[in-house]
Amino acid sequence: MSNTPRIAIVGAGLGGACAAVLLQKAGFEVDVFEQAPAFSRLGAGIHMGPNVMKIFRRMGIEDAVAHKGSKPDFWFSRDGNSGDYMSRIKLGEFAVKEYGAPYVTIHRGDLHEFQIAALGNARLHYDKKLIECHDDGNGVDLMFEDGTRHRADIVIGADGINSKLREHMFGAEAPKDTGWIGHRALIRGDALKKYPFPFEPCVKWWTADRHMMVYYTTEARDEYYFVSGVPHPKWEYDTAFVPCSREDMKQDFAGYHPEVQALIDVAEDITKWPLFYREPLPVWSTGRIVLLGDACHPMKPHMAQGAAMAIEDGAMLARCLEETGLSDFGTAFTLYEANRRERASRVQSVSNANTWLRTQEDPAWVFGYDIFEHPLRDGTAA
Ligand SMILES: Cc1cc2nc3c(=O)[nH]c(=O)nc-3n(C[C@H](O)[C@H](O)[C@H](O)COP(=O)(O)OP(=O)(O)OC[C@H]3O[C@@H](n4cnc5c(N)ncnc54)[C@H](O)[C@@H]3O)c2cc1C
Repeated sequence: MSNTPRIAIVGAGLGGACAAVLLQKAGFEVDVFEQAPAFSRLGAGIHMGPNVMKIFRRMGIEDAVAHKGSKPDFWFSRDGNSGDYMSRIKLGEFAVKEYGAPYVTIHRGDLHEFQIAALGNARLHYDKKLIECHDDGNGVDLMFEDGTRHRADIVIGADGINSKLREHMFGAEAPKDTGWIGHRALIRGDALKKYPFPFEPCVKWWTADRHMMVYYTTEARDEYYFVSGVPHPKWEYDTAFVPCSREDMKQDFAGYHPEVQALIDVAEDITKWPLFYREPLPVWSTGRIVLLGDACHPMKPHMAQGAAMAIEDGAMLARCLEETGLSDFGTAFTLYEANRRERASRVQSVSNANTWLRTQEDPAWVFGYDIFEHPLRDGTAA
């Protein structure tokens, strides 16, 4: 150990930023290394359930997120053809009372900006793409593409589905194609005014083999967003996403309800994204390196809980390190995995099955969960 114990986090995405803020609040010295030269407001929305909003409370950003985002009163599931209601899941005031925090849908860029602003004294280093690392038993050396290096006592791999740290720990392996894609697009709120439809604040349209999730991303309801899930045998491009024509998407949603057709008609810049997954890892840490979020357990996004699991991981890891102290990081890593694996795996499996809230069900096991109140399970029992 060096004289001043240091934590390095690789990746300042939604999970890495959460871990950084909470570790820094707990008094740890934290450096965060992010490959991007800067973050921008890319066109995508995200759901943040009460389980995550309670973590944002600790991070000091709950009010800002709730104020900026939309707070739907219900999650509706509707039949993609007939428009019939398949479920009406109560959110709004009910979520605050029953689950302890609001349910928010928000633009991903706005959310991330609040997280980054909360970083406080944690040092965020942009333009630092990790290319190699070496754990010598006493510390970890990180080597970046720009030729610089950094030594840390422990390293948290929050570097997403193509994690370099995961590769270092378990060997290189490409993520697997799920055989699905997602269309994503933003819609200006005023573009909806000409239609007679309700454009509910949070609704998922379903047919047997595909769906479209739609919601507002702002409290002002001036921005609506959709993300789909559609079978697509093989991703034929080598980029993370490609533009998609309106006609192309219309073909995928032929026969869908006129409200869905209207959304495709007025959507701006539709893109399509491949959906990848990985098999579960045998362990989540080796030596001084531990993984969280998509680096550890990527999933299909159909439950809108992938980032939530990354954020919960970050919060649990911070809690465990606070409990044991950095010098006993090995116990912290064991505790962390023992208290995360079961929940993350359950969410991963429901998400992959794409059944969440399709019919009326009680979502309390996801939304009611409070990572800070949950009794810590002994790591040795894992
Ligand atoms: C279409 C779609 C819709 C989704 N909708 C939702 C939703 O509504 N709700 C939800 O909870 N989840 C949703 N998800 C899932 C969610 O986006 C991910 O689960 C989440 O982003 C994972 O967070 P993370 O912090 O683990 O990784 P990421 O957010 O991927 O962050 C990883 C970070 O690491 C950086 N990085 C990568 N490699 C390196 C390197 N070598 N060196 C330095 N930095 C590096 C990246 O630049 C990035 O900033 C969706 C996913 C998709 C594909």
